[in-house]
Amino acid sequence: MPVTSPVCVTVDVEDWIQSTLDFDAAITDRCRTNTARMLDLLERLGIRATCFVQGLVAKHDPRMVADITRRGHEVACHAHTHRPLFSMSDSMLRDEIATSRKLLEDATGQPVLGFRAPDFSLGEPCETLDQVNRQIFVELASQGFRYDSSVVPARMRRYGVATAPRGPFWLKEGLLEIPLATVWLGRRWPALGGGYLRMLPFSLHRVALWEAERAQRPAVVYLHPYELDTGEVGAIARSQHVPWKLRLSQSLGRGRRLERRIDRLHHGRTFSTMGESCRAFEGRRDLPTA
Ligand SMILES: [Zn+2]
Repeated sequence: MPVTSPVCVTVDVEDWIQSTLDFDAAITDRCRTNTARMLDLLERLGIRATCFVQGLVAKHDPRMVADITRRGHEVACHAHTHRPLFSMSDSMLRDEIATSRKLLEDATGQPVLGFRAPDFSLGEPCETLDQVNRQIFVELASQGFRYDSSVVPARMRRYGVATAPRGPFWLKEGLLEIPLATVWLGRRWPALGGGYLRMLPFSLHRVALWEAERAQRPAVVYLHPYELDTGEVGAIARSQHVPWKLRLSQSLGRGRRLERRIDRLHHGRTFSTMGESCRAFEGRRDLPTA
C-alpha cells in the first residue's frame, strides 16, 4: 500500500462522564483502566496509534500519559476541558490550547504537534470552512502545531463541513489538516470512528477504507478508551440522569464488538501515526488549500 494511504488509528483519551455528561465532573479512575485496556488491545494487534489526550486527563494522571509515549504511540492534544471551542473568546481559546499542550509536553517530554477539537467543535454544522471559527487555526499555528485533525468533511447534526476536502489539505493559516474518514453513500457520511464504527454495518467501513486507498489519502479512524467499557453507562445511569437516547447511542457496540471491528480493520493494511502521515504530506505543495 502506498505511504500516502495508511490507516491512522487515533484515540481521543478522555473520561466519558466528564467529556459527555458534565464538564465540571472530576476525571475518574475509569479513564486510566479503559486507556490501559485500549493500549493492551493496540499492542496485541501491533498498531501504533496517535492518542489525542485531553489536558485535564494529563493533569489528573501524567504518568498514564507518559506511559502512552513509552508504549510507542504518539501523544497529541485534545484541548483541556472538552468544552466546545467555537463559542470561546480568543483569550479562552488561547488558554484552552496552551494549558493542555504544556501539560502533555511536561508529562511526555516530547513536543506535541497535532490537535483535535473536542466533538469536532470548529463551528456549527456548515457548508464551507470559511464558516467555522478560524481563530482556532490561527491559535494552533501561532502555538507551533503542525497538523490538525478536527474537520469532519460531511455535514451532520452537531458538526461537520459539507464541502471540505476529504483528504489532507493545507489550511490557509499554514497547518496541514488531516480530516476524519468519510464514506460516499449518495452524500458524505462519517465512517471508521465513534458510534459510526460501533453501530453501522462493517461493509460501509470497508467501502470507506477502499475509497481512501483509491484516493491515496490516509483513512483516519477514531476511538475512545471508554468504548471498551461495557458497564460504564449503565452504572452511571443508576446514580444520575442520562437521557435514554444518549444512553442507547453511547452503549451500543461497546466492548468485544468494537474490539473485533478494530481487528478487522487490521488485516493486510499498513498503519501509521498521524505524525508520520503529517511528515509524508508536509512536502506536498500540490495539496489543495482551504
Ligand atoms: Zn473528545
